[in-house]
Amino acid sequence: MIAEIIAVGTELLMGQINNTNARYISARFPDADVYVYYHTVVGDNPVRLSACLRHALERADVVITTGGLGPTQDDLTKETISKTLGLELIYDRETLEGIRRFFDERGRKAAPNNEKQAYFPEGSTILRNDNGTAPGCLIKQGEKTIVMLPGPPWEMEPMFENSVLPYFLKVADSKLYSVYLKLFGIGESSMEDIINDLVSTQKNPTIAPYAKRGEITLRITVKYNPDKENPKEMMAPVLDEISSRLGEYIYSSKNEELNEKVASMLIERNCSIAIAESCTGGMLTSMLTDVPGISAVFDRSIVTYSNDAKVRELGVSPGTLAKYGAVSGEAAAEMANGIKENAQSEIGLSITGIAGPGGGTDEKPVGLVYIGLASGSGTEIKRLNLWGDRNRIRHSACLNALDMIRKNLKIIKTEDN
Ligand code: ATP
Repeated sequence: MIAEIIAVGTELLMGQINNTNARYISARFPDADVYVYYHTVVGDNPVRLSACLRHALERADVVITTGGLGPTQDDLTKETISKTLGLELIYDRETLEGIRRFFDERGRKAAPNNEKQAYFPEGSTILRNDNGTAPGCLIKQGEKTIVMLPGPPWEMEPMFENSVLPYFLKVADSKLYSVYLKLFGIGESSMEDIINDLVSTQKNPTIAPYAKRGEITLRITVKYNPDKENPKEMMAPVLDEISSRLGEYIYSSKNEELNEKVASMLIERNCSIAIAESCTGGMLTSMLTDVPGISAVFDRSIVTYSNDAKVRELGVSPGTLAKYGAVSGEAAAEMANGIKENAQSEIGLSITGIAGPGGGTDEKPVGLVYIGLASGSGTEIKRLNLWGDRNRIRHSACLNALDMIRKNLKIIKTEDN
């Protein structure tokens, strides 16, 4: 099937926001055998939107609109599409009650404008919105299908995944099965070079990379007929090939973050940990303590920003600080051993570095970070030269520290085995 996406919103035309909704839908639709041939962007104008819809219906089987479903005057997608198709808008009681409940719970009264969100073109299938007040809807008009989705990506994407994709998969008698590989320690472009041939030639399963601040997710999705095909068998050769090329960077085949993975490894192995942070100011502690259940193994953490605190709280030697400086492998090692000793934990982890923007020198530039990990098998030091702004440097330092813990725990497990 051929699809056209009509993104509705004057702010898109004015260059105030990017049309990420069209990108998302275009990337996901082929999984349901729907191929996007056209992207259209139109402002909040009923005459022009109506013309776009008529044009789209001439050249596509499926027309998806995003935006303009909200309560305000310029949110006119449903009204305009109904009028263009000659359909009446009728209210859906369940949606109306839901909107009233939403406002009651907040001690407010729904305005007539809000209630307009409960009206849909006659014959629509209503698509629930679990992340906002504007439901979407789907209308069949002969051979054509028109789907209206909300504008905010955090509302649009779950609605697309939970209602739209399953609808078209059902039409195609198929289901989807996805595996998420999570990677750390490789850049997006290097990874793409390594698997470029697989990404460009694979039709089923499809491979889609997503990068998010230092981490990469590879989503591998197989489309299968549940009566005839086994999705795991169809997936296996591609997974094996990717693992053989990128195995050293893959930390999980579940859709979990690095902090969650490391926390669950610590908990599983009942391995206690204590942390001493300097330039990251508690960020690593926060990432680990975000994970429920970590209290079983997380003993303590301390932020030692000044030299004095490093000496007093962690027993770092003033001689080390004078000779090598607070941002040095030697200081990181003593910090890690100091917190391990204080807490009597199995792992002591330290981070010290220069997050910038000031404070860098030729010898020790902004982005220089040392991580220390003290454990039963000795003390490891990692030196990093990170780039970016202060927040990026601090965040990358934490991800690297988590990866160091992960690798250490993996080695311990292998030795145990
Ligand atoms: P709401 O119920 O929030 O009013 P809506 O369906 O009316 O939703 P719009 O008012 O058109 O949506 O847009 C709301 C916000 O959604 C925009 O300010 C923008 O941040 C985001 N948005 C809209 N369209 C797109 C798009 N095509 N790509 C990415 N973001 C978008």
